[in-house]
Parts: sequence; structure tokens; C-alpha cells
Amino acid sequence: EAKKKGKGRFEFFKHELSKKLEEKTELKNDLIESIKNENFDIYFQPKIGKNEDLYGAEVLVRWNHPQRGLLFPNIFLPIAYEKKLITDIDFIVLKKAIKQYKKWENNGLNPGKISCNITTIDLEDENFIDKIKKLLEENEFDAENLILEITEENVMKDPEKNIKFLEELRKLGLGISIDDFGTGYSSLSYLKKLPITELKIDRSFVKDIGKDKDDEEIVRVIILLGRVLNLTIVAEGVETEKQKEFLLLEGVDALQGYLYSPPIKADEFEEKFLRKQNGCQ
Ligand code: C2E
Ligand code: MG
Ligand code: MG
Ligand code: MG
Repeated sequence: EAKKKGKGRFEFFKHELSKKLEEKTELKNDLIESIKNENFDIYFQPKIGKNEDLYGAEVLVRWNHPQRGLLFPNIFLPIAYEKKLITDIDFIVLKKAIKQYKKWENNGLNPGKISCNITTIDLEDENFIDKIKKLLEENEFDAENLILEITEENVMKDPEKNIKFLEELRKLGLGISIDDFGTGYSSLSYLKKLPITELKIDRSFVKDIGKDKDDEEIVRVIILLGRVLNLTIVAEGVETEKQKEFLLLEGVDALQGYLYSPPIKADEFEEKFLRKQNGCQ
């Protein structure tokens, strides 16, 4: 009897497991199809400077799934990562972002610096850096206005190799930001060698400002570290006035978070942040 029950349960798990696998395969195939059609939308989240000026924006991807609707990165990036589809997606995002930027620029609007996210898988792709170079040239895009964000965890998986790749990228004239900083176990000796221009303090430390003295101390130390290394310091996940006050007082250069805006579409970003800033209202 117990054996029977056990077998039943096993069959159940087997069924669940194969359902999960099936879904994953399906999503993977859909992803491949969507990459062909460039079925991804880009959203912009402002980074606000010290004087409430616009420092720039982070570009965040959403998958416009033909049946399931708009999907967030946490649903599909893990699959894209595993199957190395991520590089194609990142390039589509980059291309769309640059085209949008040029459109704004041609209309006399100034979005500041835009940041796109990349991963170390992209850097392993021999063509990736060349493709970016070409993209910038073809669009006559000033590389000074582009930042590529890569997570600290990603970079520190193989720092020696990644430092080389990032140096190649830096030669194009763009900026490099270490994303989710504080969670990726950087060794200080590597941090010093990294060819980076910006540090983004991870949301997990920002969250408890005003509640947790230890987190406040960590934030202070990160800011100090960023200053010593001569980096622009950005805080992500800023949701309250209290966090904002603390971060500005401690010397953060730019703030990003729901306090100002969630990621929004280009039209809304233009209306709320670009037209206002340029005094065209
Ligand atoms: P990230 O680069 O650290 O981006 C910040 C994430 O935090 C975004 O989530 C953003 O919507 C969210 N966020 C911003 N402000 C707040 C806030 O005040 N509170 C809270 N709770 N969350 C906030 P999203 O858009 O879901 O993206 C998640 C992650 O997916 C990103 O984290 C990034 O690692 C990755 N990602 C997004 N777009 C791309 C892309 O085009 N390429 C690659 N490789 N990764 C991407
Ligand atoms: Mg990012
Ligand atoms: Mg981040
Ligand atoms: Mg983060």
C-alpha cells in the first residue's frame, strides 16, 4: 500500500517536472522567434542628479510575448542566460535605445547618459564589441553618452578575463558601471584594476536606510570607496524621501528608484522628464 502511494507521488512529481521542462522549452523556442522579430520593448527609468536635474536613464527590457503579453526580465532572462540568447537580446535593446536616443537628440531633447545592461556571456561573444562599435558609428552616437552596466557578481566570476574585455569596451569611449554593488564579493585589488566609471549601490542596502544602522554604514563605506576610486556613485531602489536625503547628504551623485519613477515607455519618459528639463513645456 505504502509502495503504491509512493509510486503515485513519484508519478505526480515526474509529471510536474516534465511540465516545467516543457514550459521552459516552449519559452526558449518563443524567445528564439521573438529575437528574430525583435519583439522586445525598452523602458526607461530616470537617474536623477543632485539638483533634481536629469543625469540619465537606465534602459530595461520587457518581452512582448505574442500570447502571454508583457513579460518581465525575471521570467525570461534566466532561460536566455542558460541558452546564450541573452547576447542577442542585449544587442536588440542597445540598438533600440540608441535609435530612440538619436530621435530625442534630433528633436532638441537631451536624455543625458543612457545605461544598458550587459552580462559576461556577451563579453565571451567575439563579435559583441565590434558590433557595438559599428552600432555607435552607424548612428553617429557619441559614446560618452552610453554606459554599460554589468553586475559585480558577473564580473567577479572571472575578473582577470573580464578586466580585459571591459578595457576593450572602454576604448570605445563609453562608460562602465558596476551594478548591484555590494553583493558580488569584489576583492579590493581587482576593483582597483577594473576599468569602470560608475558604481551602483545595490537596492538591498538602500532599502533599510533609516532603519538599520549597519546598512547605513555599509552605504557610507561604498560611497567612500567610490570616491577614492574616482567613480560616479548611483543608488538604485530609492523609494523614500528619507533614503534620498541620506544618500544626497553622504554624497551620492545620482538616484534611481520608484521615488522618482518606475521604468516607463519612451513617450512617457519624454513627456515627464525630457520636455520638462529642456523647458519646452
Ligand atoms: P537592475 O539592472 O539592477 O535594474 C533595476 C531593477 O530594479 C529593475 O527591475 C527596476 O525596475 C527595479 N527597480 C527600480 N527602482 C526600484 C525601486 O525603487 N524599488 C524596487 N523594488 N525596484 C526597483 P527589472 O526591470 O525587473 O529588471 C531586473 C533585472 O533584469 C535588472 O536589474 C537587470 O539585471 C536585468 N535586466 C533588465 N533589462 C536587461 C537587459 O536589457 N539586459 C540584461 N542583460 N539584463 C537586463
Ligand atoms: Mg542595471
Ligand atoms: Mg542594479
Ligand atoms: Mg539590482
